[in-house]
Amino acid sequence: MPAQEQPGLVWLRLLRLPGRVALFVLRWVVATPPKKPRSFLRTWTARAIPVICAAWLFICGPCNLLLPTHPGFSSVSDKKVTVYHQDHPPDLVNKVLAYARAGHERCHEFWGEPPGGVGHISIYLCGSRGRYRQLSFGGSGNAGSAGSSVMLYPAGVGQQNLAAIIRHEMSHAYLRQHIGYWQSFRVPVWLDEGIATYLGEPTWASAEALRKRLEAMQTPSIVSVVSVSSRFDWADVALGGPGAVPRQYACARGFVDYLVTQHGEGKLKHFVHQSLLNDVDDAFASVYAAKLTEMEHAWLTHEIASGHVPARTQLVTRRHSVVTAVRFYLPYALILFAILWVIRQCFVVGRLVTRLIRA
Ligand SMILES: [Zn+2]
Repeated sequence: MPAQEQPGLVWLRLLRLPGRVALFVLRWVVATPPKKPRSFLRTWTARAIPVICAAWLFICGPCNLLLPTHPGFSSVSDKKVTVYHQDHPPDLVNKVLAYARAGHERCHEFWGEPPGGVGHISIYLCGSRGRYRQLSFGGSGNAGSAGSSVMLYPAGVGQQNLAAIIRHEMSHAYLRQHIGYWQSFRVPVWLDEGIATYLGEPTWASAEALRKRLEAMQTPSIVSVVSVSSRFDWADVALGGPGAVPRQYACARGFVDYLVTQHGEGKLKHFVHQSLLNDVDDAFASVYAAKLTEMEHAWLTHEIASGHVPARTQLVTRRHSVVTAVRFYLPYALILFAILWVIRQCFVVGRLVTRLIRA
């Protein structure tokens, strides 16, 4: 009988592969490039690519939002909001400004005053979906947010849902202002999206809309809301066929609505803060004295009893897809490669300067 391996050794074995990969990457970054001279074309192509990428990022890409001037945008401001637009009709711009003021009020009522005071919100109305995708770094749909900036493609959103979408995106911005940008990544996505959709009250994610969507399904099923905790999980849900994304927003809103109706908004905010300190299940149990999955089943039972969803509705687990994994992680891999490439170039320049000084 083989001797039982000590737990410490098992961990060492598990760490061997990532350790080797990290060592390979480190060697690539600090290694001396080959002495063999490169052709003129290769040298200048290698220099031009990062310059073109940086120019794109700052001139028309997402980093454009960080610049003090925004090429191609005019702006209208009040104390708390600036609306940047691309020659949109004045009545639409004024409407957006009014919706944003109302959004501030609703978000402030729910979230309260952020520790550093209410931050200024910038809303970018894009003239085309292409421009929206550039600013949101290839974001899907018609609306998104980053930090305290909200990007919108009004023609795609439609007049009917404009107020709800603005409030939804402002809720994300408020959450970041409350707990900090990096901390906000630790909040489960279903909770962040659920609260934002609950505050926005969009017609496309209402109880009525969810019931109609489920009735249209042969086997009415809901992807377990609480299993969608990361951005990757959320992207995975989108592969569930047409209507999967609005259905998921409606479910996240429905579950958050249920928690608020049963236990109040105060407990929900307390849970948001606890989820930063503990494992989500433990945080939920400590705030609601119940298991998260059991509460989700109680919600579905309640929805069926109230006639909000068909009686045959089932909770299903999220399916995992390799395609989504590649599509989701590829941009991050490219960004990481670009950062490592820049560090590698710094080493090359450093060596060149050292050689010049010694000479
Ligand atoms: Zn959202």
